[in-house]
Amino acid sequence: MEKEINTKLLRWYKKNKRILPWRVLDLNNLPIPYYIFVSEYMLQQTTVPTVIKKFNEFITIWPKIDNLASSNEEKILNFWSGLGYYSRARNLLKAAKKIKKNFNGTIPNNYKDLIDLPGVGEYTAKAILGIAYNKPVMPLDANIERIIARIYAFQEPKNKIKKKLIDKSNLFISKNSSTNLIQAFMDYGSLVCSPRKPNCNICSFQYYCLSYKKKIQNTIPLKIKPTTLKRKKYSRAYIFCNEKNEILIRKRDSNGMLASMLEVPNDKWVENKKNLVLDNIANNFKKKIKLKGYLNYSFSHFDLYIEVYFTKVKKNLFKNYKWINRKKINNSGLPTVMKKIIEIGN
Ligand code: SF4
Repeated sequence: MEKEINTKLLRWYKKNKRILPWRVLDLNNLPIPYYIFVSEYMLQQTTVPTVIKKFNEFITIWPKIDNLASSNEEKILNFWSGLGYYSRARNLLKAAKKIKKNFNGTIPNNYKDLIDLPGVGEYTAKAILGIAYNKPVMPLDANIERIIARIYAFQEPKNKIKKKLIDKSNLFISKNSSTNLIQAFMDYGSLVCSPRKPNCNICSFQYYCLSYKKKIQNTIPLKIKPTTLKRKKYSRAYIFCNEKNEILIRKRDSNGMLASMLEVPNDKWVENKKNLVLDNIANNFKKKIKLKGYLNYSFSHFDLYIEVYFTKVKKNLFKNYKWINRKKINNSGLPTVMKKIIEIGN
């Protein structure tokens, strides 16, 4: 059965594959390893449509791994704005430097060296091996997991069927067409066997698909409701706007959330609102700052509730501070939460 599905899938892929910028083929008719390497970092936690635009910009700035390896954290963090999960940007840069130093700028083509790179886990290592080097592996992304779980009608929650998914997915590994097959699975999961309401009426595996036969495909994979509520944190943010319509910004600490990113002054984020401590700069202007609005920003592990304050100030009162023109906020490298805070202070 697995062989038949693979054949159908490869045939479908030939006609229906998504045109994605990181799929440009090299002289050997395989995708360019550097492009797959970059795209896999970007695609962790971010959707394909969001990544497409950023990927094209990224490749224009850093067309080869040597260019990236010679860059610095500030530049890549500024670039990463809008993609979120900034640790990926730091890891990507560290990995590029390591590849330049240890592998002469060539993306490794074996699991052992790949898994040793910062930010590369089992999935990413296999995706690079399979897609860029046509090695016989099967990386399990959400699309592939869903198709497998539906074909075999696995009705338990995803975290309980990890081993079963790996075992079954290994049955599909292709010796010679791994790159196309993996990408075919990914595209099929996105376009046909989609998360909600799979298009079973146009699917050529109906005959093999147990969940289709049992009419339970819409309930697979089984969703588990989170048992705990998301944590809440609190902060206050301060927008200081000068006579030139510039906003005061500074760099965050090099540890913790959004480390080393740009920010507008804000109080340390706390779990109990009563523990908020007025930021030093804001303290000097506490009689002038006015409440402008509120922002509830959702990070993956907690929600941040922010009171946003605003005041006009004279630029010459601030020595050694950075300012950014309001018109340039969108291309400033400020993380999204900071951009949203500034929008409130408009
Ligand atoms: S029949 Fe439906 S659920 Fe089964 S693989 Fe095809 S699209 Fe997915």
